[in-house]
Amino acid sequence: METPVTPVTSLLERNKVWAKTLLAKEPALVQELAVTQKPKVLWIGCSDSRVCPELLTNSHLGEVFVYRNIANVVNSQDIGTMAYLEYALMNLKVDHVVVVGHTGCGGIKGSLNVESPGEYLKPYLETIANLYAHNESHFADLDSEEARLRRLAELNAVRSLRTIQESSVYQRAIKVNPGIQLHAWIYDVPSLTLTPLDAKDEIYQALNIV
Ligand SMILES: [Zn+2]
Repeated sequence: METPVTPVTSLLERNKVWAKTLLAKEPALVQELAVTQKPKVLWIGCSDSRVCPELLTNSHLGEVFVYRNIANVVNSQDIGTMAYLEYALMNLKVDHVVVVGHTGCGGIKGSLNVESPGEYLKPYLETIANLYAHNESHFADLDSEEARLRRLAELNAVRSLRTIQESSVYQRAIKVNPGIQLHAWIYDVPSLTLTPLDAKDEIYQALNIV
């Protein structure tokens, strides 16, 4: 009897096909990656299954060092996040840090739902809810929920970037590598498009970080 195909066995099968193809097409790259990685870009994004960094930037393996969590939150009190940042900046010596928020983010939406359940989810999402509460004036000109959620995703990406900028890890890294550049982007899910946010925009300058 044939083994039934499940979402997981399907992944294993597709991995076999993909590995075979890449080994045939780019043997030099595969050989190089077997030894080391030299990514120049650190991508901090949401875990959302629709926002896969390598796919949507058409990157090859080893090009982008990726960290993803719900709603791309950088919390300086989270040892996992900060260790990751330290490794990327001090060991891999990446030149660019990109924080990417996205439209239709469940984490952003959940943060505005006071009924949001979850032992861990609730306090986690409260950091975004507080960002909204302290910056309500930045939403006054928006008349749809969609627009408000998009703006909160943008502000949240900028806030994560500021947290990195103010971290002791970044302060140490910038002394060793003064060329490090920080970026905040928004990914529009319906159009599959990335757009850089202008950190000099007055809305971001005026951001009340909590
Ligand atoms: Zn998300």
